[in-house]
This record gives sequence, structure tokens and C-alpha cells, in this order.
Amino acid sequence: MTGVREPGAILLVGCYELGHQPLAVAWPAAFLERAGYRPAVLDVSIEPFDAERVRRARLVAISVPMHTALRLGVGVAARVRQEHPSAHICFYGLYATLNAEHLLRHSADSVMSGEVEDALVELARHLEAAADRGPVGPRAASAPILTKLDFPAPSRSLLPSLKKYAHLERGDGRLELAGYVEASRGCKHHCRHCPIPPVYGGRFFVVDRAVVMADVRQLVDAGATHITFGDPDFLNGPRHALDVARALHRELPAVTFDITAKIEHLLRQRQHLPELRALGCLFIVSAVESLSDTVLAHLDKGHTRADVAAALGAVRSAGITLRPTWVPFTPWTTLDAYAEMLDFVEGEDLVDAVDPVQYSIRLLVPPGSLLAESEALRPYRGPLVEHDFYYRWTHPDPRMDRLQERVASLAAKAAEAREDAALTFGRIRALADEAREVPSRPSSPPPPSDRRRAPRLSEAWFC
Ligand code: SF4
Repeated sequence: MTGVREPGAILLVGCYELGHQPLAVAWPAAFLERAGYRPAVLDVSIEPFDAERVRRARLVAISVPMHTALRLGVGVAARVRQEHPSAHICFYGLYATLNAEHLLRHSADSVMSGEVEDALVELARHLEAAADRGPVGPRAASAPILTKLDFPAPSRSLLPSLKKYAHLERGDGRLELAGYVEASRGCKHHCRHCPIPPVYGGRFFVVDRAVVMADVRQLVDAGATHITFGDPDFLNGPRHALDVARALHRELPAVTFDITAKIEHLLRQRQHLPELRALGCLFIVSAVESLSDTVLAHLDKGHTRADVAAALGAVRSAGITLRPTWVPFTPWTTLDAYAEMLDFVEGEDLVDAVDPVQYSIRLLVPPGSLLAESEALRPYRGPLVEHDFYYRWTHPDPRMDRLQERVASLAAKAAEAREDAALTFGRIRALADEAREVPSRPSSPPPPSDRRRAPRLSEAWFC
């Protein structure tokens, strides 16, 4: 049997991280290397499944930081079992413990989430110690791990080149290489639809500035001219965030960046927005989710419709683009509210700042999410769709469920055809008008295709 310290005896598998080079693989790789292991890596969002790499591995650790990754990861695990039945399969990441029961029953020998890297090293040691005793049997699901780690810089040398991942599209359409780093993990908030609170319970962990900068440096050496700070919320710790952004600009003044921050933080930290712009912040992604105060209250988002307008004004006047993300289909969103969202996007000149897939997003209720057990959802909640890892729910107005299906299909085809976002928006508006049985407004002439657009990453946002 291969020793766990042999090259490739541990295989870390990335499934999908929104088109970024998978940091959730690069960080465990660095922890394992520091402990003397020589893991191999595989990113199935870019590379074909590699049976040879699987057969060499005693431990296959599959990263599932998001729902799409989990669905792909379960398929990967089935193929791993086929190729190498005695390999230990571990699922790690946010969606691993949320779905622990199912995974341990069908696919996994162990699951872990939270600050997992030391636990992965521990698992490797455990397998090493057990090597003479034969395969290690299934382990019980552990609670999320919330211990502060001593981070090394992520190890990226074995991952596919940055060229294979999402690029930055600047306003003039130029495409540039983009890197993805994190200056913190977890979140101090408790939004009910988010997978982070059930795992992190309102805690977040900062990564030392020196480690973040070491990672940025290696990405810039690999050709990145833009950095995405993928922290769940960059402004959870504003002092740390500014410290990191200042260090980035001091050392690499030509490098631009984007961040994700909630509306509440954008308002509370609005005095720092002009400085963030001066330091190179091109755009901010913010989970607006809805303009309905009822929906926002059910999601416990911590902002109102009025806050959204105020935050948009503050970000714009700092010279930064706001890229709102939405959850337009929830059991509490009315057809009129859906149309109002489209009016807002159009009226605020945000059409180029919203990836059209956003107009189709349906509230995802994974097992273990705060929403799954909420009173407000109960009247609409159906059974758990076990193999797809979410609770089904039905809108009280059947027109909304039909509209969601039609918008999702239209947005997916438009993304595949790389259709101009303005044209897709017009077609989605027509679908909404049809559902409301109001006359469709005459379509405005298509905007010039060479117009300046809001900067974006070339991967549309899929959850
Ligand atoms: S602020 Fe963002 S990351 Fe934090 S709990 Fe809410 S949705 Fe999740």
C-alpha cells in the first residue's frame, strides 16, 4: 500500500469555485506540504477526471465550498470509489457538514467544514498511522472546526494556469488575468439563506496581511493584474481590510481589485470608499438579494430598500462600480416586486452591472440552513431533494415558478451565446410583462456594442 507521504498519495480535488483558481485546494495543499506530505491536485472544473492520479491516492479530499461544487463532487466521489475502492474519501468545505448525513451514508468516509486545514493534516497522520492496520472505516461527522489557524501562503504551483480561469473584463472589453485571494474567512452575520452562519456561527477569522500579500505576489508573478478579495464580506473587519488594501497598493500600485461587502457595511464604512477607490478598487459585489422589505426581513439581511439606494449612491460617488447580486425568486416575492427589481436595475443604469443569470436565481434552501427550519418558510417548504441537497419549495403564485423556469432557461442560453446583457435584459423584461399580462413596452434600440461597460469577471455568478 502506498505510504501517505509518497508524492500523490493525497489527492486534493477542486470541483468549482465560481471560475477562480481553487483557493480551497491551494490552502490545504500548503498546510499538507508544510507537514511533510506531497499532495497532488486536480481541478475537475478545468481538467478531465484523472483515474491514474486517483489510483495513486490513499486519501482523496474533495472541496465543496458551494452547492454546485457539492453536486459535482458527489459524481467525482462515485468515480473515485470505482477506480480505487479502498481510498479514504473526505468531503470538506461549507456544504460538507451541512449534508454530512447523506454524504457519510453514500459517498464519504469523513466530512469536515470551517477552518479545516489542520484537520486535513491530522486525517493524513491518522491514515499514515493506520497504514499497517488496513483501511480506515467511516468516521462520524465532526462539528464545524472553528480554531484559528497559522496560515502558510497557499500552494498554487500544481494548479492549472491562471489563464484557464475567469478573467477581468475592464470597461473597454480588455481581458486580463485575475487572481483570487482571501483576507478573512467566515462571517459575523447571520443571514438566514446563507450557508456560512450554520458553519461559522457568526465568527470570522482574519488571515495575516503578510500571508495575503505573499499570495497576491505569486498571483501577480503568474500574470494577474487584478485581484478578487473573495472574503465572504471584506468589510467584516474594516481595519484589517484597509490594512491589506493599503499594503497591496503600496507594493503593487498598478494592480486593481474587487471586493464583496454587504449593503450595511457599505453604509457604515462609506467614509472609506473613496480611499478604497484610490487604492485600486474597481468594483464591489454586494448581495442586495431583493428590494422588498418583507423579503429582506425574512432573509435577515440587515438592510432595507432605502439602504440599497443609499449604498449605491455612496459607492458611485466614490467612483466605484456596484455589482448587485439578487435572489429574485423567493416564496415572498410577488410578480410586481420582480418587475420593480427590473425597473430599478434599468432606472439606475445597472443593466451592465448585473450578470443576467442573477434575474433567475431561486432561493436555495440547503439542509441545515437557518431558513430550512424558519416559521416563515414552513407554509411553502416541501421535502428534501436528497440527491440534489436542497429543500423544494413552491411559490403561492404559480406564475412565479413558471417565470423562474423561463428566465433560467433564457439566461443560460444567453450566457452560452455570450449575448449582450442589455439584449438579455430586454427579453427577460418581456417575459415578466407577459407573466403579469401587461402590454410589453416597445423595446429600446440596442445599445452600441462598443460602449464602455461596468468592469466584471468573465464568469457569471452561479451558486
Ligand atoms: S453578510 Fe454575506 S456572507 Fe455574511 S451571512 Fe450574510 S450573506 Fe452570508
